[in-house]
Amino acid sequence: MATLRSSGKKGTWRYLIVLWISGCLLLAAIAAVGVWARMHFATVSFCMLIAIVLISLLDSFISSALFSTAGALLLNYFFTPPEYSFEISEASDIFPLAAFLVSSVAVTSLVRRGRESERRLREQARLLDLSHDAIFVRDNRDVITYWNHAAEALYGWRQSEALGKDASELLNTVFPISREELQLILLSDGHWEGELRHTNRRGDQVIVSSRWTLQRDENGEPVGTLESNNDITERLRAEDRLRRIQAQYLDEVQKLSRTGSFGWEVKTGEVFWSAQAFEIFEYDLNEAPTLAMVRNRLHPDDVAVFEQMLKDANAGQIANFDVELRLSFPGDRSKQLHIVGRVGPNGSPDSRQFIGAVMDVTTARQADERLRRAMTELSRANRASALGELGASIAHEVGQPLSAISTNAEACRMWLMRDPPYFDEVREGVEQIIAAGSRAGAIVQRIRRLIKGMPSEHTAIDINDVIEEVVGIVRRDIERQRGKFRLILAPGLPLVVGDRVQLQQVIINLVLNGIQAMSTTTANKEITVVSQRDAGGNVVVSVRDSGPGIAAENLPRLFDPFFTTRSSGMGMGLAICTSILKVHGGRLVAENNDDGQGATFRFVLPPMNDSKAA
Ligand code: ADP
Repeated sequence: MATLRSSGKKGTWRYLIVLWISGCLLLAAIAAVGVWARMHFATVSFCMLIAIVLISLLDSFISSALFSTAGALLLNYFFTPPEYSFEISEASDIFPLAAFLVSSVAVTSLVRRGRESERRLREQARLLDLSHDAIFVRDNRDVITYWNHAAEALYGWRQSEALGKDASELLNTVFPISREELQLILLSDGHWEGELRHTNRRGDQVIVSSRWTLQRDENGEPVGTLESNNDITERLRAEDRLRRIQAQYLDEVQKLSRTGSFGWEVKTGEVFWSAQAFEIFEYDLNEAPTLAMVRNRLHPDDVAVFEQMLKDANAGQIANFDVELRLSFPGDRSKQLHIVGRVGPNGSPDSRQFIGAVMDVTTARQADERLRRAMTELSRANRASALGELGASIAHEVGQPLSAISTNAEACRMWLMRDPPYFDEVREGVEQIIAAGSRAGAIVQRIRRLIKGMPSEHTAIDINDVIEEVVGIVRRDIERQRGKFRLILAPGLPLVVGDRVQLQQVIINLVLNGIQAMSTTTANKEITVVSQRDAGGNVVVSVRDSGPGIAAENLPRLFDPFFTTRSSGMGMGLAICTSILKVHGGRLVAENNDDGQGATFRFVLPPMNDSKAA
């Protein structure tokens, strides 16, 4: 047999040929011994049967059928009359041969099947031994019937020691629910999963993630339970360590950020606080926190807000809250808290639970208050400075019509004193006074609108009309200096959008500046006002004088408020012009004339259809 097994691999042709030849030789040898010893048919057939069974264990059904047939032929040849022939003289001799053949095939099949299922079971057990999970099988009485290598390693008992023992007693099992409940689940579902605590051979506690599977026989009756356990002790310990570290960090962070956390079971009124929450409310860590403790610390004015919040939460009307409350402490100390909360994830409809954070924002609020006060101060200072500028601009703008009024009134008095009085001149002078008065009124009106924050009145304007109006207003000023106006106004200019009075003021300021600049020059005093259209379709107005021009060092500061070179000047005229033009989407530039005489101020306004004026 040893030769057979080593002669080749099972199933290969070489193996089969060796097996078949050896088998047939063995049977022939038995037959020869039988003939030599003159054995009876039954004895020889019995020996052959044993040999066939043994040889057949080495291979499949075909081999056993082959050996059975070979055996039957040998028996027929040597032991069935007539001997040494395959003939059968008596019909009754067929039956022992047939019985030999059938029993040989049947017995070999049965033995092989038994061996096969044993092999399979061994294979399965070997596979279970490969598993890293501790696996054992318990019968209905909880007695261990299988125990794999991993179970030996995990619990410390060898297979021989564990088999036959009561599993719960051996492992001192602690169940998460009662054993009876667990058994009911197993019977109804066929399986169960959960955490168990076992005690190993050394007496250490082992926490396992356990999976149970109910085993049933072919009639569906439970015969045992396969339990597969995975050691999670280390993992749980690591998780626990991590949780503790996290809690530590959380504690530190809460301290740093002055933020405490809380939980509140609405139904039972139970309250949970973090260490920092105790710190914020200034209670001893050993006290059990209550809502009353919060109430006791609240500023009297905030109690109503707090009570309302509790009422709404109790009635299930709010799912979250975000409030600021003040706390009062003995010695006139106070704290400002920002409390946020929402319904917790573990609550149920009949047992709502709020979780939240309570932040001590006292320092932040104090800083806010300081900032607010600083901003109020700043805006007051700004307003004062704006009022200063505004006052200066009122003085500047209203100054011109007022001086026109007094000049005209003076002239009228002189004309009236003539004999006969110059009534025509007086009438004209009075009209000038009325015009200047109403212009002053319009300027004051506009400033009033500005103060109230109302938009200025923008209309479509023909700039040439405005220029002519201005010339009418300031004619006397230039005549008094024996100067003259020259107007070069382009016909058909596009309209511009703007505030008429404001644009009048711009041109008046530029013209008066020119007249004032020429007051020191003696000859050829001329103000030339030109209107034209540039290549981009914009309206361009320039005011050119024949004065001394602008000193180079003054050019960069010309448009700054309060910049003036004149002793009686305020330095507001050009600043006002710049801001008015900015509002109208235009800009002002100044340059000295190419011929070295005087300066030109030029402004550009967009035409009506693409006016960017506010
Ligand atoms: P103010 O006329 O009160 O001085 P402005 O803002 O109107 O204020 O003018 C500022 C300065 O710009 C004047 O003081 C002057 O030096 C200069 N300036 C303005 N217009 C002219 C001009 N046409 N020729 C020369 N210098 C001028």
